[in-house]
Amino acid sequence: MKYDVIIVGAGPAGCSAALTARQRNLKTLVVYNAEGAMEKAHRVDNYPGMPNISGKEFIKITREQMLEAGAELRKGLVQKIVPMGGSFSCLVENDIYEASSIILACGTARVRTLQNEEELLGQGVSYCATCDGMFYRGKTVIVVGSGGESVEEANYLAEITKVKYCSEKKHDTSKLNENITLIDDKPRSIEKSDEGMKLICDKLEHVADGIFVIRPAIALTQLLPELEVKDGSVYVDKDMATNVNGVFAAGDMVGQPFQVAKATGEGNIAALSASKYIKQAENE
Ligand SMILES: Cc1cc2nc3c(=O)[nH]c(=O)nc-3n(C[C@H](O)[C@H](O)[C@H](O)COP(=O)(O)OP(=O)(O)OC[C@H]3O[C@@H](n4cnc5c(N)ncnc54)[C@H](O)[C@@H]3O)c2cc1C
Repeated sequence: MKYDVIIVGAGPAGCSAALTARQRNLKTLVVYNAEGAMEKAHRVDNYPGMPNISGKEFIKITREQMLEAGAELRKGLVQKIVPMGGSFSCLVENDIYEASSIILACGTARVRTLQNEEELLGQGVSYCATCDGMFYRGKTVIVVGSGGESVEEANYLAEITKVKYCSEKKHDTSKLNENITLIDDKPRSIEKSDEGMKLICDKLEHVADGIFVIRPAIALTQLLPELEVKDGSVYVDKDMATNVNGVFAAGDMVGQPFQVAKATGEGNIAALSASKYIKQAENE
């Protein structure tokens, strides 16, 4: 199925972009994963027309509005966007979607990867239990988790493999299945050796057949390596166009101020620019 635009993120920037994209009659898919900054805002009082609203309520209303306008919404982590010369393929867990343009509205989530993690992706390191779990049936894997869905994913893997779980940052692990072994150590880097995949931690090295790194977000260098990033923010021009032709970005990920009104305004501009880009490409 080909979309005109895929929007990564369903916070204020992504929802606003989706509404405008639908007003321009673009076939629109919005993909979101974990809660963004907006859902963490207890009370927002400076967004016009919505006084004293919680972030969660704001997201509920705007997502409903976006769905009523005809946008499609999918929950899942966007792992990779690949430019295909005029269109983009977008990997969401184990599904691939195609679109003429992309709007990134991923918020500020900065992802610090483990040393060698990105180089070893697909060579013993995986980001997706559902996609790659079966390759490790009957073997041993380590899940490096940081909350969100990492506990659920580890429990899923424990049905088919032997699982060890290592927390990357402090989070609730009480719902891990009893047959999962907890590694009480801080992960730093990954190495591939004759013994298998090694997770090098502060205290010890832990060996397994595979390592699953499950985070609620993905590093921009992994998502779309061609993207120009300046001082931690995605570089955009006044039309919210990034350096990659056909890819636009909006909201907290393009820089300060981190405010809802800015995010929605930029989402609106990004969608108008995507619409213009698609029409121009069709006429070429
Ligand atoms: C505690 C707190 C209080 C705040 N109070 C206020 C306030 O009072 N007023 C104000 O104006 N602003 C406030 N803010 C800031 C405001 O919440 C942000 O500016 C706003 O949410 C930015 O919107 P966004 O859409 O850019 O990002 P977010 O709201 O962070 O949304 C990001 C979206 O991207 C998705 N995502 C990220 N990566 C991926 C991926 N790889 N695949 C799929 N989906 C992905 C997430 O799931 C999420 O849906 C507050 C923020 C916080 C944390």
